Amino acid sequence: MTLSSSSAGTLPTQLEIWQKTLSWQPTEDQLAQFQRLYEHILEANQQLNLTRITEPLEFWEKHLWDSLAGIASMLRLEALAEETALQPMQGIDIGTGAGFPGVPVAIARPHWTVTLTDSTRKKITYLEKLTADLGLMNTRTVVGRAETLGQEKQHRDRYDLAMIRAVGPASVCAEYTLPLLRVGGLAVLYRGQWSEEDTKALEPAVETLGGEVASVESWATPLTGGVRNCLYLRKVGPTPREFPRLPGVPTQRPL
Ligand code: SAH
Repeated sequence: MTLSSSSAGTLPTQLEIWQKTLSWQPTEDQLAQFQRLYEHILEANQQLNLTRITEPLEFWEKHLWDSLAGIASMLRLEALAEETALQPMQGIDIGTGAGFPGVPVAIARPHWTVTLTDSTRKKITYLEKLTADLGLMNTRTVVGRAETLGQEKQHRDRYDLAMIRAVGPASVCAEYTLPLLRVGGLAVLYRGQWSEEDTKALEPAVETLGGEVASVESWATPLTGGVRNCLYLRKVGPTPREFPRLPGVPTQRPL
């Protein structure tokens, strides 16, 4: 027996929690894709050190639920729309690592396109295999640093939605995401603890980059009550040419 089949376990379905918290429920096919994603990560973890979160319930809450909580308002809006009225969205996940939040978002929103990016080639190689195995038709993968992609014609000003989780301080995340958005697009910064003072401190950087803080949403995770905050930054004007700055500069000299 391989280690993956002996140790992977089965993810909980949690249909009621999905419905109650996000007004959305996975289909049978989506549940199967979540399970496959989980097994894939556990198997690859032996070589790649992708995540420390490996227990089924913890994986469900900290990776699956957490990823989709960041797009909760969009899930709710789309739950009200007719199937035919669903708008395709161009999304990008910066520093996706093992695929979070981008892969669960791509599974949950098959009519969106999600570009999964990371600066580490071996993570992207893993994601290429994963997305092929899952039969995901709406993802693409790009190796690159956010500072470089944000200056490239094929990525700058292109996306409706830019997601970023656990990549760095908020002002660095703002500098990584806002240049990639079209004017009107939305950046989602996944955070743990967050305060009003943090928002105030972040605002000048966001404005410098052509954005504004549209909203801050706070919630507790549904199984363990962990604190989560998501910042939603709207791009309201063009990002000045000099941003993002050269690789490494946003972290060395945060705005
Ligand atoms: N978003 C995932 C992974 C977080 S770990 C999650 O929440 O689980 C941070 C990831 O960001 C790593 O995979 C790292 O390779 C990548 N990363 C760090 N700096 C980056 C940059 N400047 N551009 C692109 N990716 C970056």
